[in-house]
Amino acid sequence: MLTKKQWLRKKRKKKYFMLFTITSLTLFILLMVLLMSVSVLKDMNITKFSLINFTRSANPIAKPEIMEMFLTPNDYSRPQTPLKKVNSIVVHYTANPKTGAEANRNYFENLRISKETSASSHFVIGLKGEIIQCIPLDEISFASNNRNEDTISIECCHPDETGKFNDSTYGSLIKLLAWLCKEYNLDRDDIIRHYDVNGKLCPLYYVEHEDAWEMLKNDVMAYIDENAAKDK
Ligand SMILES: [Zn+2]
Repeated sequence: MLTKKQWLRKKRKKKYFMLFTITSLTLFILLMVLLMSVSVLKDMNITKFSLINFTRSANPIAKPEIMEMFLTPNDYSRPQTPLKKVNSIVVHYTANPKTGAEANRNYFENLRISKETSASSHFVIGLKGEIIQCIPLDEISFASNNRNEDTISIECCHPDETGKFNDSTYGSLIKLLAWLCKEYNLDRDDIIRHYDVNGKLCPLYYVEHEDAWEMLKNDVMAYIDENAAKDK
């Protein structure tokens, strides 16, 4: 038999035990709800992220054939600085008549040894229309002075001193520009010349012939219209 005192103590103990259990259970449930909402939020973010990816990958323009011949990372031509945003695409000419895409790519590669200057380009388009990529698109190139940080660069080979691109080079340039415009959601005015960055006479022919430059941009837009429409 319990004395009244013992009985009261037992009752109090039971009360505390119940209180402890209820509090623990409540805390546990709250924790679970919190964890679940975090995971739901995470899922939502993942969905959003894949939606962005889906939109990005829905480029209506086919990627042209590109040979990846990335430069060896080095301070003179491939510093591996992240390219965080792309606001424009800059067109250049090599200023070295008759040289091909691979020769120009190798010139950039050799700068890590010769150290004579800093120069490179994301792409070089050769005289047969071949496209060589020297630098991944999430890294900057050394081509466009103070616009290296937010542009993609394309060097074009040319057969003579005038700097005019031949039909093969021109054709590949149009395709590459069209694809890049769609890839980065850029427009006609986002295609610029090195000349538009700092007044350098590059690409020479398209600085001296404003009409040819306007026509080049028109050709890119026409190519996009034609090929984006094909899918519909
Ligand atoms: Zn240039």
